[in-house]
Amino acid sequence: MSFKSLEIIEPILQSLIEEGYSTPTPIQAQAIPIVLDGKDLLGCAQTGTGKTAAFAIPILQLLSNSQSYDKRKKIRSLILTPTRELAIQIGESFKSYGRHTKLAYTVIFGGVNQFSQTQALQRGVDILVATPGRLLDLMNQGFITLRDIEIFVLDEADCMLDMGFIHDVKKILAALPRSRQSLFFSATMPPEIVKLADTICKNPAQVTITPGQPTVDIIEQFVYFVDKGNKSALLIDLLSDKKIKSALVFTRTKHGADKVVKDLLRHDIKSEAIHGNKAQNARQRALANFKDQTTRVLVATDIAARGIDVDDMEFVINYEMPNISETYVHRIGRTGRAGANGTAYSFCDAEEKAYLKDIEKLIRKKIPVIENHSYPLIDHHPVKAPKQQQRPQRSNVARPKAEGVGDRRRLVRNPR
Ligand code: AMP
Repeated sequence: MSFKSLEIIEPILQSLIEEGYSTPTPIQAQAIPIVLDGKDLLGCAQTGTGKTAAFAIPILQLLSNSQSYDKRKKIRSLILTPTRELAIQIGESFKSYGRHTKLAYTVIFGGVNQFSQTQALQRGVDILVATPGRLLDLMNQGFITLRDIEIFVLDEADCMLDMGFIHDVKKILAALPRSRQSLFFSATMPPEIVKLADTICKNPAQVTITPGQPTVDIIEQFVYFVDKGNKSALLIDLLSDKKIKSALVFTRTKHGADKVVKDLLRHDIKSEAIHGNKAQNARQRALANFKDQTTRVLVATDIAARGIDVDDMEFVINYEMPNISETYVHRIGRTGRAGANGTAYSFCDAEEKAYLKDIEKLIRKKIPVIENHSYPLIDHHPVKAPKQQQRPQRSNVARPKAEGVGDRRRLVRNPR
């Protein structure tokens, strides 16, 4: 399968060659013909599968083929995405794939001054990538109308809901023309997402790239059982391996991310945190430092990490296990992108074992345990907690604090 056989037009093919893309990824191979055909699409795929190009390439092609000769450009495609980082990333994709077309795009998001964004809008764009809050804001100020939208993309719909953007999304939907093509992407498809998709798409074709295939399968995954209080020491130990030139470390909380950075800096390991409490500029600076390897370790919370796309990132470390299994797939999907090598290490304490079990069920495989390390779990709990202590399913409730900082005694075996 080649991009040529998908009947991609020459100016876009040219930029794909320049990008070094030789073969479409599975989602691209399936989605591009559907979108080029003018059909609505329901795509179940996580970031890391090449889904941005799966919608950006056919959008560029459709808009190029029906380029309007009006002097004044109209916004003909809107891509709505939950985070600023993702918006920037998607904008970069349009810039790369569309560099030989005559189409103009811009990206708008909150947390920064709106002036340069409104200037770009006033110059005229064909494609607008936006986060919901800033889009509504600029619509209300009269800088944007959505009445000419021909293709609408809702990206990361599940994340959009998790972040509480549903009301904003509904307001935006109400401003879109009824007759349009809609592309709906979500990494997971729980019932409320299916319901939302039903209100947006008409008879959509479905494309599902299930977790477990193909991105996650090519990532080497390992788990360390370790006491909560020893995770920092284990991380420093792990990072003493010079093979790990850079690593993305995940924590569940912003506070946790800051604490890990503090611990690493104390050991002269260059690191920075990226999370929602940081100003947009600080987040972008941290990301840039990580990309050019000035910073060796980037510590991120899940939401902030949604938009991180670093080429050749080999190592992801789950300092804390995610309490929602799909998040694990999102996290480790930061590595092993588009065929690159990737390794994911997970630090699992006694109370996180139930999360690990859920993750293994989702990815349909056991994650190999690294038995021989300096900080083995001493006070292990059985995986099955007594009934009254069982954690609620898929919720963000606070969990009890882990007790018992382990010592350095070696454990003969690491029961699961
Ligand atoms: P995405 O899932 O859109 O975040 O894309 C993941 C990564 O894969 C990005 O770094 C893209 O540049 C890269 N990518 C997307 N499509 C291809 C392709 N067909 N060949 C090689 N790399 C790709």
